[in-house]
Amino acid sequence: MQEKGSISIHTENIFPVIKKFLYSDNEIFLRELVSNAVDASQKIKRLSALGQFKGELGYLIVDVKFDEKAKTITITDRGIGMTAEEIKKYINQIAFSGATEFMEKFKEANDANEIIGRFGLGFYSAFMVADRVEIESLSFQEGAEPAHWTCDGSTSYEITAGTRTERGTDVILHVNEESLEFLSEGRLGDILNKYARFLPVPVRFGTKNESQPDGEDEEGKPKYVSVEVDRIINNTNPAWTKAPSELKDEDYLAFYRELYPLSMDEPLFWIHLNVDYPFNLTGILYFPKVKNEMEIQRNKIQLYSRQVFITDEVKDIVPEFLMLLQGVIDSPDIPLNVSRSFLQADSNVKKINNYITKKVADKLNEIFKADRKGFEDKWNDINLFIKYGMLSDEKFAEKANDFCLLKNTAGESYTLKEYYEKVKDIQVDKDGNIVYLYASDVAQQDGFISSVQAKGYDVLVLDGPLDTHFAAYVEQKGGEKIQAKRVDADVVDKLIQKDEKIDLQLSEDEVTKASGIFEKAISRQDMKVEVDALAASDLPVSVTLDEFMRRMKDMAKTGGGMGFYGTLPDNYKVTVNGNHPLVKRIIESSEEEGEKLAKQAFDLALLSRGLLTGADLTSFVKRSVEMI
Ligand code: ADP
Repeated sequence: MQEKGSISIHTENIFPVIKKFLYSDNEIFLRELVSNAVDASQKIKRLSALGQFKGELGYLIVDVKFDEKAKTITITDRGIGMTAEEIKKYINQIAFSGATEFMEKFKEANDANEIIGRFGLGFYSAFMVADRVEIESLSFQEGAEPAHWTCDGSTSYEITAGTRTERGTDVILHVNEESLEFLSEGRLGDILNKYARFLPVPVRFGTKNESQPDGEDEEGKPKYVSVEVDRIINNTNPAWTKAPSELKDEDYLAFYRELYPLSMDEPLFWIHLNVDYPFNLTGILYFPKVKNEMEIQRNKIQLYSRQVFITDEVKDIVPEFLMLLQGVIDSPDIPLNVSRSFLQADSNVKKINNYITKKVADKLNEIFKADRKGFEDKWNDINLFIKYGMLSDEKFAEKANDFCLLKNTAGESYTLKEYYEKVKDIQVDKDGNIVYLYASDVAQQDGFISSVQAKGYDVLVLDGPLDTHFAAYVEQKGGEKIQAKRVDADVVDKLIQKDEKIDLQLSEDEVTKASGIFEKAISRQDMKVEVDALAASDLPVSVTLDEFMRRMKDMAKTGGGMGFYGTLPDNYKVTVNGNHPLVKRIIESSEEEGEKLAKQAFDLALLSRGLLTGADLTSFVKRSVEMI
């Protein structure tokens, strides 16, 4: 038997195009061929289960081998095999509607996945790395003859009688000169480790040494020898494919380590996803301890389709705020091979997105209710996800309002509702606003914190990267008439302005004089001096930073670009306490003495908020030494 023919596409020069275009992604040839081998193995298993195949199944395994000298890579399976007719039908007729369409589309395509999936070029990806491909196959069907197919990447092929004596298929790639890098254990091993790690049929690649028991030594102790064994590179039954009821905590933790062997920490908790309607999706998402940038980059969520690794670029499929999670999502319903814009519009993708969001919110709520203490302990690690989610996703926020926590400087945690109840009667100003006070840096803002605490007020800690935005969120959604102010946004009596008014002990002339002295002593463009009536026990001078302007600037920073507000200078206010005895003394001192004291009081205010640095700090120290 010998037959020559022509592969049925319209364009003669399609392979050079595929080869050239797909070059950057060419390693996926192995994913495609190994997946085909796995599919063929699963098909024979299914036929056997259905009673349509009555022979011996044998050990279903896929072998990947390479031969450096012969420059070949061979993928072998014991699957259903193909007759010559089937090879012609399945391999020769490329499953896309027309080469013309392909030629038009490939120009817009973004990556190899897109082309391969869209046009059913799986098998043909072999030609990205091979200049000749052979198939040796024997079908499972009774009386089938082995067939051999060979093709050099042009559109002509040749079919002859084959040599295979056992059911299954060998695909033999004659690796081209540009792709010799693939003829190495390291390179092929890496690719398999990336794509085939959790395939449902064992994949064997090379050998490894394993220590095995071998009788006893003279003292009766067990002896071990190193034996060369086949290397099965995959776990065919990964945790996410099992029923949640089958798994214990240890199993989830073990799977986490399997996924991310380099991770130092254990995950905080996890969510097992499992839906089959209206789309198919399984997976396990882990909440990690807060990671550094590098680990976030490395330990990303991995996307699989029927246990074949597809990508760890899960943008569009996973809601953005959950991209910081880790783990696996497996769904045959995600259109993996289409362009970005299509993916965003795809209704399945939207449903999947919503489903994941809902599942995550429900799970968090469940943990919160079942073990509030544990949840509070984990808050520092998970609050970033939750706040990000609340800020970016209304549906999530609705649910998260029940378990989102506020922590104060004493380390106590409150839900949004609880906190409102806690402070609403004390921290209310003359206009009925409920003022939430917060610190973004407990050590730096210590002076401000203790002065508001002296008034009986509570101080929240909002020191995360999203907390400026979160403060704005709480104002809008946390309850009626809430205002959030950082403790250093103003002097304490103005942070929460009550009805009672403190009288100013200075005459109008004295106020003008005090202003003049301080303005001269301070001589800074970015600081406005105000003489005000505070309690005599308050500090003589405070430097505060307006909440609104500071927040706008902070937001401009976290929003990426600086924007309009980002370009403005800081807007400090210097409040001189007209009721403090020192101020009276300054007014009554000689000009020189008064200015020196004013400067000293101002520097102390700067010092207490960490703003006194450089030459100013040096001269402050010098002046202080002189004064004592
Ligand atoms: P796809 O896998 O997307 O259908 P491919 O081009 O990879 O596209 O393969 C085309 C067809 O060739 C497969 O659907 C299958 O019927 C057949 N085939 C490929 N490889 C094998 C194999 N190792 N054993 C049996 N059949 C195979």
